[in-house]
Amino acid sequence: MKDAICGAALAAGFCGARILAPFEPGTAAHRAFEPPVLPGGCRSGAPALLVTALAYGNRHETPAEAAGMGIIAPFARRNYYREAVTRLQGLRARLGGKKADYRILCNSPVPEKPLALASGLGALGRNGLIITPGAGSLVIIAAMTLPFALAGDGPEAGEGPFPRCAGCDRERPPCMAACPTGAVRGDGSLDLKRCIQWYASGKEAAVPVTVAEKWGRRLYGCTACQDACVHNRRPIQGAETALGPLPAALDLRDLLAQSDPELKARFKGTTLGLSWLGPGAIRRNARLALDSEKGEVVANR
Ligand code: SF4
Ligand code: SF4
Repeated sequence: MKDAICGAALAAGFCGARILAPFEPGTAAHRAFEPPVLPGGCRSGAPALLVTALAYGNRHETPAEAAGMGIIAPFARRNYYREAVTRLQGLRARLGGKKADYRILCNSPVPEKPLALASGLGALGRNGLIITPGAGSLVIIAAMTLPFALAGDGPEAGEGPFPRCAGCDRERPPCMAACPTGAVRGDGSLDLKRCIQWYASGKEAAVPVTVAEKWGRRLYGCTACQDACVHNRRPIQGAETALGPLPAALDLRDLLAQSDPELKARFKGTTLGLSWLGPGAIRRNARLALDSEKGEVVANR
């Protein structure tokens, strides 16, 4: 049954599929991942979870240098979150039973990283991202509760806390060297107060000058630490999806001229239309990109 479900997920286009079940008490995995590390309720009422990775890959258009245009990072140019949910819904329909028994977790309040680590979908990189064997860190992670018990997979075996980073210089790995703001600490965590992606997602009210001056042409998304990672340099094919298409770059002044309802309508169904982002964050990102182009840094945008 387990092989059939994971096989069906792979056949549906996921690049990784693992099963997470409660770990035997007393085992290393139990000590490492059972509560409080695994979020409470993520398997409440569900004997097992299917944990999947959907690749967005790195075979994307490179936008031309053009004045006034803000770049959208490749992972946001399609709605891969919605695509993963759609594929899991298809799988759910094939498994049968009550729909309510299969809760889909994707871009939800349940953090995906502990699920991916505990199930062995990938290993933590020094840049704080999950690195999968099939598609490096160029994936989104989605999970689905299963209403029946299955044997679970365990975390990836390997030496030390960063088994996939063994080939990199420990003091100054490529991901750390590439981060424009010094946000990659190298210990698997980020200094979020320095991370462009964190601010681009509308997480803070004000962007400090030290981050604003490194903003560049980004309208949404910073991928420097991923682009530099040795696991992402080979060609990685992304999943095909037509959901939420956005171009590689958008006219920043056009965006600034739009009202909230216009921006909401423009980005509905896309990654930039996600509820936690909002028109205010999009406008702020656009102003920061225009400031960067002009060589101006405005404090606390
Ligand atoms: S997303 Fe950008 S700013 Fe954030 S850690 Fe990675 S390279 Fe640094
Ligand atoms: S660049 Fe090297 S150290 Fe950094 S996450 Fe990738 S493999 Fe790990």
